[in-house]
Amino acid sequence: MAFPFRDFPQQWLRTVGMAVVLLLSGLYVLTPGRAEVPVERPLQLRLTPLPDHEGRLPALGSDGQSLRVGVTEGTRQARAELRFVLPPRTNESPHWVIWIARVPVESVHLQVENAWDGGSRSFLAPEPMEGPMPVGYLFRLPATWEGEIRLELTAIGLRNAALRPEIVSEELADEYVQKATIVASLAYASLFTLGLMTLALFFASRDASFLVFFGFCVTGALLLAAFNGHLYLLDPFDFLRQLGGAGLHAISLLFEVAALQILLRYADSQQAGPRLARAIDQGCVALLLLSGVMLAWREAFDPLAAWLMPVAWFSGCGVALFVLSEAWRRRVPFSAAVFVSVLGIAVTAMIWELEGRGFVAGSLWTQYGYQAAIMICAAMVSVGLISRISKYREQRDREQRARADSERRMYREAVRSELLTALQMGLRGVGEEDIQPMAMRLLLDHLRRIVPADHVLAVVRGFHGRDTLAAHPGAALDELVERISPRLPNLRQQLAINIEVQQPVTRSGEATPVAIEAAVSLPVRAPSWGALVLERAGATVFHPDELSIARELARIAVLQIDEAFTALHLRHTAEVDSLTGALNRRSIDQALVRTFQESIRKRLPLSVLFVDIDHFKAINDQRGHGCGDYCLREIAKLIGEQLVDDDVFGRYGGEEFLVVLPGRQTEMARAIAEQIRAAIETADLRYKDQSLQLTVSIGVASQLGHEPQPGPAVERADKALYAAKRGGRNRVSVAPAIFAPRSATA
Ligand code: GH3
Ligand code: MG
Ligand code: MG
Repeated sequence: MAFPFRDFPQQWLRTVGMAVVLLLSGLYVLTPGRAEVPVERPLQLRLTPLPDHEGRLPALGSDGQSLRVGVTEGTRQARAELRFVLPPRTNESPHWVIWIARVPVESVHLQVENAWDGGSRSFLAPEPMEGPMPVGYLFRLPATWEGEIRLELTAIGLRNAALRPEIVSEELADEYVQKATIVASLAYASLFTLGLMTLALFFASRDASFLVFFGFCVTGALLLAAFNGHLYLLDPFDFLRQLGGAGLHAISLLFEVAALQILLRYADSQQAGPRLARAIDQGCVALLLLSGVMLAWREAFDPLAAWLMPVAWFSGCGVALFVLSEAWRRRVPFSAAVFVSVLGIAVTAMIWELEGRGFVAGSLWTQYGYQAAIMICAAMVSVGLISRISKYREQRDREQRARADSERRMYREAVRSELLTALQMGLRGVGEEDIQPMAMRLLLDHLRRIVPADHVLAVVRGFHGRDTLAAHPGAALDELVERISPRLPNLRQQLAINIEVQQPVTRSGEATPVAIEAAVSLPVRAPSWGALVLERAGATVFHPDELSIARELARIAVLQIDEAFTALHLRHTAEVDSLTGALNRRSIDQALVRTFQESIRKRLPLSVLFVDIDHFKAINDQRGHGCGDYCLREIAKLIGEQLVDDDVFGRYGGEEFLVVLPGRQTEMARAIAEQIRAAIETADLRYKDQSLQLTVSIGVASQLGHEPQPGPAVERADKALYAAKRGGRNRVSVAPAIFAPRSATA
């Protein structure tokens, strides 16, 4: 959004508007005759310089109406005679007072020699009777006085100043006080408000410019309070009284530094001209050093200050105006207005200086001008600074967005890798039927952590020859299937064209959608097909990011399902004899070791059968190896059919099979062996349209006692088989007890 102050004509309009408002309020304050009691103008007053004890005469201002005091030898103390004529006394006669606007002097004293003493007033030590905001040195004249009066004015200087006594009615003096108090209060209040506001802005934006502006407000308020003389009313600033004129100079230099610093930031000079900015920074350091030196050696510097201060001030004003004219050229918001107000400060400072030196007559400028100029300048700079807040806000928003983005990316990455790990761990060693349901469950669990959805349905059709349905929450599966199934063919068509589909869901009979449904397809190979259907109540559509992470997680799940099937297949081929489908020799050996240990642990019997095809060589020889292979496959099938769950069997050698029967003692094992033998004998086997007659001989042996290794039992079964062969084949032979102890055979 464009900030309105960026618009140049509008900016001018506002500047002019603000200036008009300030001007009108200034006129209101300064216009005389507002009071209900008509107040006369000051009476005529003549000022005559009086010689000091060395006979030197002090200087008067250019209009002859002000007495100049300074700090250099000879002008430090100045005396003058005030002569005026008071009208004859009547009942309506006002109280007459001598009013001298409060300029910085060490003391001012009024008397009629040996007749009347008006007392001493000091800029540095306001008296309680002078009110909370003293604005002038006030001397009440005795009520009885009338006719020609001569008073002696004695002043001791603090810095260059011009005392401008007036003889006025008490009402007029009151009005002077009111106006000056209003102006000063306005100045303090505005600087205080601006200071607070910029401090708040600093805490909000963490932009150092606002802190510098706060410093500018504080030093500005200090400067005004010091030159108005109000600062000396406050106990904490008692030390300033000790510093005298040097304290005033130090404060004005401090203000100058703060003003230059804020202008540099306001005008963005660091970017526009780094060399100029560096030079100004160095100048500011020099000013701070100067004020330190002036405080440390104030006796020596007091006279020097008379020309050092104006030089420091006006060079500062010059630099400020240069910086601002440059900012004006770059169209920094409000820079024209700030330029004008700094010019105002420079002009008022100039008038102040000239008046202190007696070159120009005293005027309202001296009393109000510099306060108004500083106020206006502060207001303009603050508006200019605030107009840049939109820039800071944009920058902060950008940073926040970037941070949120990277956090989201990191979270997304974390969920992604957690899903991958969960799938790798979870699918390891899982049976063929469980791979897909488990993968889908893990997928949905992880998906809902990153994509908020009320329902998710995962549909897989024909992937690795299987169909799978999974839902989140799991309990909603049936309801979801019932609701979504009719739309699946349609969804499938849409997903064939687009990578994702999103549409509102309406309930029958209602026009307004109750939920948003989105679907992404699972990247499975055709002709298999799969999709994730997400449903979210309300009208918040799924963000493209959400659907892309859904696709990404789905892709990981599909890849892991593929890998799980591949691993399963590899394991299968490593364990199984490729010709017969029974376990191979290595696997049956492992099964033997495992079952022997298990049966000891479970204290259960265990038997093994050695099955050998009778005269198999002859089949190979007469019918060929193809027929032999066929027989091996058929016999493996027939053996398998006689076994139950826990039983295992494998191809032990060429045409020999080993059957392991956990939990069966010898008699049961013999019965099973008999079943196998009979099944093979009676099987109707045909190879190339010729029937085959096959028989097997079987040796039976059982685990004895706690035999931990299968070797001896297998050996006994082998011997029993040998016995069966010798006994005429096609029979079952049980290993006799005689084989039992190894020593007996030996
Ligand atoms: P007996 O009744 O004494 O067991 O006689 P037999 O002929 O079955 O015994 P023998 O151990 O001499 O013969 C085993 C034959 O099995 C030898 C070999 O040709 C055959 N054979 C071993 N492995 C395979 C195979 O993988 N395929 C085929 N077709 N024949 C095999
Ligand atoms: Mg054999
Ligand atoms: Mg054989």
